[in-house]
Amino acid sequence: MIPFDTFKNKYFFDIYITAETPIHIGSGEEGLSPLDIDSSVLKDSEGNTIIPGSSLKGVFRSNLEQILRGKNVKICDEVGGNPCINSKDRKKFDNEDSWFSHIEKNICEVCNLFGSNSFSSRVFFSDAMADKKQQNINYRDGVKIRRDTEVAAIKAKYDYEIVSSGTIFKTELLMENVEDYQVGYILFIIDMINNGLIRFGGKKSAGLGKLKFQFNIKSLNFDDITKGIFEPKALNENQIENLKKASIERLAKVGETNV
Ligand SMILES: [Zn+2]
Repeated sequence: MIPFDTFKNKYFFDIYITAETPIHIGSGEEGLSPLDIDSSVLKDSEGNTIIPGSSLKGVFRSNLEQILRGKNVKICDEVGGNPCINSKDRKKFDNEDSWFSHIEKNICEVCNLFGSNSFSSRVFFSDAMADKKQQNINYRDGVKIRRDTEVAAIKAKYDYEIVSSGTIFKTELLMENVEDYQVGYILFIIDMINNGLIRFGGKKSAGLGKLKFQFNIKSLNFDDITKGIFEPKALNENQIENLKKASIERLAKVGETNV
């Protein structure tokens, strides 16, 4: 396992996300009526539509979790208060080395990439932003069904905002101190998204949320820096394929050994 506090490598992704179908990333703000909940899309103060980096990270994390669980890899239940590594346990260890080897032995495959309350993430997504000059926001009719006690269902028509297909969002992803297979995991999830297996945002059942990720990657490693090279180098297709291969090999391995 690569420690978090040394400089081993950095990967810089420039990502263009195209909405292949309309998309609804809700603002989560409640309107005056309880039926207005989440009907507008999320925008920054300038009016550009955004997909928060935290939402992007959440989608990548939860889908990697599902894949690994499918391979019977044990992933911790951090949200449920049962993390693989608990920072409160630090005092049980005499020194940094023994604490680190405890982490190395017990950290789950997902926390080791996306972080947890006890240690930092190796993956950092910026908010994805559409330029307000090219984004096109439309309205759709929806029917909200509210179930109240002793009332079967209250149906109400309401409008919700969608960002039209063809809208392009731009974002950046930084990965730090990662193994090849960990970069490969991200590429694996991108392939799933591009093949329509993962959708984003709300109203997915109405056919919304299919995105296409196009990207280029640059990297910089510790050896480069010691040679006085500070400019990240672009990865070619072969190198990207090798990273994907590393994730496939890792998936086969973790499935067998159940690390
Ligand atoms: Zn974990």
